[in-house]
Amino acid sequence: MNRKKIFAVTFIFIFLTILDFNVLAWDNQVTHRDLSEYAAENSVIGKNKGDYLKNFGFNNALDDSLTWGGNTQKIRNWIRDGADFEDAGNYGDMATGRGRSYNHFHNPLKQYPWTDAGLDDWIALPPFHTTGESSIIWAQDSVTQSASVGGDWSWQNVRALYYYALTAQTETDRQMYFANTFDGLGHQMHLIQDASQPDHVRNDITTISNNLNEV
Ligand SMILES: [Zn+2]
Repeated sequence: MNRKKIFAVTFIFIFLTILDFNVLAWDNQVTHRDLSEYAAENSVIGKNKGDYLKNFGFNNALDDSLTWGGNTQKIRNWIRDGADFEDAGNYGDMATGRGRSYNHFHNPLKQYPWTDAGLDDWIALPPFHTTGESSIIWAQDSVTQSASVGGDWSWQNVRALYYYALTAQTETDRQMYFANTFDGLGHQMHLIQDASQPDHVRNDITTISNNLNEV
């Protein structure tokens, strides 16, 4: 291949890469779901990594099913849903401060108690000021989460749900609370995943504001 051909092929490759949004590693439709399932599979609750759920009678680990709210699905899917729903909120919710995702930012250069470590940035067009709590505070803030779309999935509440599951008196309650526990686990995992994505740790709404669901 001569130099002209190499140049042409390289140019076409770069051009197509720029046009194709699939090259962006963070696809909000699947990334939180897939990351959470992969992490669960490779943690102590995975069948081949400790099989910890066997202690609660879940002999098929993440493939055991739980029913809550008329919905029966595998534990792995409760976790996937929770990770997905942590971004709940449409444009109306975001404008009224009830959306969840503006609380998914944390600037690590700010000092404790992190009251100014959350999102505080502008979307250029139309001009819109976006603010939120530090994701570390949000993860543990029952009050603010309760007032937000989707409700309270704070660490404290998820831990309480876990306790209710362990002490439930009926099989229906046990399944409901365990389903809630794994759903809540997914919510919490989402926040850790966001902290690995640069925009979420440098107070930058601009890139991800193009697609509301990515935050
Ligand atoms: Zn998020």
